[in-house]
Formats: sequence, structure tokens, C-alpha cells
Amino acid sequence: MAERPLDLHGRPLGVLRLSLTARCNLACPYCCPDTEDPPGLLTLPERLVLVEAAVGLGAHTLRLTGGEPLLHRGLEELIAALQPLRRREPDDPRGALKEIALTSNGLLLSAERARRLKAAGLDRITLSLDGTDGASVARMAGLGNADAGAAVLEKVLAAIGHARAAGFDPARGQLKLNAVITRDGNAEQLLPLAALAREQGLELRLIEFMDVGNRNGWDPEKVLPAAEMLSRIGAVWPLEPLGRADHGTASRWRYHDRTAADNGAHLAVVASITAPFCGDCNRLRITADGVAYTCLFAGSGTDLRPWLRPRPDPAALEQALRVLWRARRDRWSEERATVDTRAQAGSPRHAEMAYLGG
Ligand code: SAM
Ligand code: SF4
Repeated sequence: MAERPLDLHGRPLGVLRLSLTARCNLACPYCCPDTEDPPGLLTLPERLVLVEAAVGLGAHTLRLTGGEPLLHRGLEELIAALQPLRRREPDDPRGALKEIALTSNGLLLSAERARRLKAAGLDRITLSLDGTDGASVARMAGLGNADAGAAVLEKVLAAIGHARAAGFDPARGQLKLNAVITRDGNAEQLLPLAALAREQGLELRLIEFMDVGNRNGWDPEKVLPAAEMLSRIGAVWPLEPLGRADHGTASRWRYHDRTAADNGAHLAVVASITAPFCGDCNRLRITADGVAYTCLFAGSGTDLRPWLRPRPDPAALEQALRVLWRARRDRWSEERATVDTRAQAGSPRHAEMAYLGG
């Protein structure tokens, strides 16, 4: 078995998050995606070499994200081309990819696209939805009016149905819902979102508003702490803790009054502001143009294109990633409390969310 590097805090690499585009068909104000991609996006062969190198260092899960990854026309082709990495034995010295997941806003997830993604070998989909009525969806998605929000809501609800029909089974964790909650944006949507997810038998993952990027107007006052989210929902539907999986981002809860009808749907919170989980973070992020970031809140990354162009050098790329991982010391979210984020507003700057993919 090839040596799997540990970083300076003894953390292994486990998850690769690959952003396929920085563009999006929405403009959620807490995210602020780009309207154009940077020049020199990675090609399919370059992405394959990158994923294989990360797998060689221990990555077992790939999450495809963005911007909006369904805008990327080569998505199904990429997933299909990664399947040989899935078929490796778990003890293969080159490593093996266990799971490929996708995070999407769902607007482009037609029935046909969902079937194609399943056929290509996608394992899991997380769809993002921040409200249950036109006004709240419009507010959180950066749309002009409630009618536009209602149209988006309708599409996301349809996307949930398409994903389920294509075989992504929520009871097996293959279909989940993400919602970013902000104190001034959609806090009143907590219960309606929980109700919607329960009706649909989906795990709902409530995400604290994070200070990723430099242009989303992040302010600690706008963060609704996960504990408050849980107490608001728990006051109506009592909750039982299930804990956070090793290396996971979400603490999970189940409803005391769960029923067969809600599929035993869980509730989860991603509390990266109020209860950071840097201690066992195993995620490497790579942007659509090939820059590696060892932390979601990092200010700068490592350009991997010198090992990809003019033609990929897989061994040198794996070595570069190994060196990068071994030098990793990031634990930004745990250190946030000790740094004055306002004084840092100009520098160091955070990379933008749509580059990093969440
Ligand atoms: N466009 C896709 C989507 O919205 O699902 C994928 C990319 S998006 C950057 C990935 C996830 O990050 C989404 O669930 C989104 O809600 C979340 N996100 C974006 N900006 C955030 C922020 N400032 N704080 C917390 N979560 C954020
Ligand atoms: Fe687009 Fe996702 Fe960012 Fe919203 S969170 S703007 S859907 S990339």
C-alpha cells in the first residue's frame, strides 16, 4: 500500500472537492458566484489525473461542485471516466475511489439528466434549497421577486422527484437537502424547511452562514448558531442526537416522533462557525482552473497546472500534492475566535466560495 500522508495535525486526506465551474445560474448573496469562468479551465484528462493522484494519497470520496456543476457539459463524461477508480479493490496499493457525490442547486436537474448521472455512476446528490415560498427563495437566491423565487422552488421540488425516480434513494443517504440559514434572511424558514424535508423523507442539512469569500457581507451578527436552529426545531419536534461521523461536517439528529412516512429522515447541522470541526478535517479543494486549497477559508492556494501542462505528469503531480498535504496546518475555523476578522477584511483575503465549492 502506498504511503498515505498525514498533515501537520495528523489528519489524513479523505475527500476531494472538485469545483467544475465558478459560474452559476443563481446569485445567492451569501455566495456571490462569478459571472464568467477564469481562463484555462482544466480539461477532462487533467481532471482525471488529478483525481487519480488524490486517490493515490488516500482520497476515497469525490464531491463535484461549483458554482453550479450542472452547467458543466462534460459532467456525465467525467463521472463515467472515473469509474475505473471505483472498481479497484479497497486494498489496491494505488488507492480506490468509493463514492462520487454532487452538490447542485437542482435547476438543471431534469428527469433525463438525473437518469444520465445515475447511469454514469454518480452515487449521491445534495440539492440546495433555502426556503419554501417564493419570497424566501428569491431573497436567498438573489432573485428579483417572489414569482421568480416560486419558479425556482418549483424546479427544485421537481428535481427532488427526478433524482428519486432515477434511483437516488434518500433512505440510503443518496439524496439530501442543504439549506444555508442566515439570521436576517430565512431564519423563519427553519420549520417549514424541516417540514418539507420530512414530507419528502430527506435529510435536511442546515448550514451556518460562513465567512467564505470577501464579497458576501459576512457579519457574525447574521450567523444563526446551529444550537439555536436545533432548539427552534426541537421545540416543535423533539430531537435525539446521533453525533458527528469521523471526519464529517454535519452533526446529525433524529426526530423523536419519526415515522415510516418520513423515512426516518434526519436533521443535520453544519456548525462550522460556532462548533468548528477542523480537528479531523480531511478535505482538499481544487478549483475549476486547477488551484488546490487545503482549507475552505484559505486566502491562497497552490497552482497545480505546472504538473498538468503541457501534458500531465502523474507521478510529479502526486508528489506535489503529497508535499502540499504534509505541510498543511490550516485550522482556520477554530482560530477564527482568536483573530479579528474585521481587521483582516483587506488581507489575507479568502478565496471565493464558488471557486472552492463549499
Ligand atoms: N451551486 C451548488 C449549490 O448551491 O448547491 C453547488 C455549489 S455551492 C457553493 C455549495 C454549497 O455551499 C451550497 O449548499 C451552498 O448553499 C453553500 N454555501 C454557499 N455559500 C455559503 C456560505 N457563505 N456559507 C455557508 N454555506 C454556503
Ligand atoms: Fe450558485 Fe450554489 Fe453559490 Fe447559490 S450557493 S450562488 S446556487 S453556487
